[in-house]
Amino acid sequence: MDTVDLHVHTTASDGTYTPGETVALAREIGLAAVAITDHDTGAGVEPALAAGRALGVEVIPGIELSAGYGSGGVHILGLFIDPDAAALRQALGWIVAERERRNREIVAAMAADGIPIRLERLRAAAGDGAVLGRPHIARWLAENGYVSAVSEAFDRYLGRGRPYYRPRRRIPLGDAVRCIRDAGGVAVIAHPYEYGFEGPAWEAFIRAAADAGCRGMECVYSGYTPDQIRALLDAAARYGLAVSGGSDFHGAVKPHIRLGWGVAGEVSVPASVLAGLRAAKF
Ligand SMILES: [Zn+2]
Ligand SMILES: [Zn+2]
Repeated sequence: MDTVDLHVHTTASDGTYTPGETVALAREIGLAAVAITDHDTGAGVEPALAAGRALGVEVIPGIELSAGYGSGGVHILGLFIDPDAAALRQALGWIVAERERRNREIVAAMAADGIPIRLERLRAAAGDGAVLGRPHIARWLAENGYVSAVSEAFDRYLGRGRPYYRPRRRIPLGDAVRCIRDAGGVAVIAHPYEYGFEGPAWEAFIRAAADAGCRGMECVYSGYTPDQIRALLDAAARYGLAVSGGSDFHGAVKPHIRLGWGVAGEVSVPASVLAGLRAAKF
């Protein structure tokens, strides 16, 4: 069976494989297609498309947008996007400026406490086009001996309620979906069980996302059990959403997750879902 992975991060956001390496890995493991869905940037799409053409792997241009819903944040995947579309560029510009503002606040607070972290160094280390954020700060803290692991940096310093946590404003769910659609893409609800909603609150979220224009749902995702996947497929059918699936591969920062596989082989997504997602554009 031909399989695909429709949720993948590269060095353009917080993954550790370059777009080219990601596509090469997709070819090595025999995936029919891979979607490049970096956080709040389409910078990895062009190099991935070039690698896909050279290696004979279908690359789907994508993005993963952080959006505001209720008092928290949710993730919306955009598949088949034009990363240069004006609507998307404008939204990404706002997101980058907002993230920069928060990075500066965090680093200034650390500097005031004598931690010699410098934004310019983080930016240079992350490379051109990378979206700098808390994962980079966490990695610096680990590499410089302030914590023993990236997860500890969040637990002790950067997570909500910790001393260097700073809130970030998000684009509202409806606006995130609209700019994906204006960029020619299909908006897909990412990892629907990662937000802590249960029962009626979960149904309300799915309904709100569908009403906002989401046309697909990630029903297969790393770590989801067969029961969870079945429940998501059922919900997708109830709300008229196309089925999507992906690993959320990040390379070495999430070493337990493998491209096109997930944690234990649960991310096995038939290439046939692509037809449904493409049809959902219209
Ligand atoms: Zn996500
Ligand atoms: Zn992701």
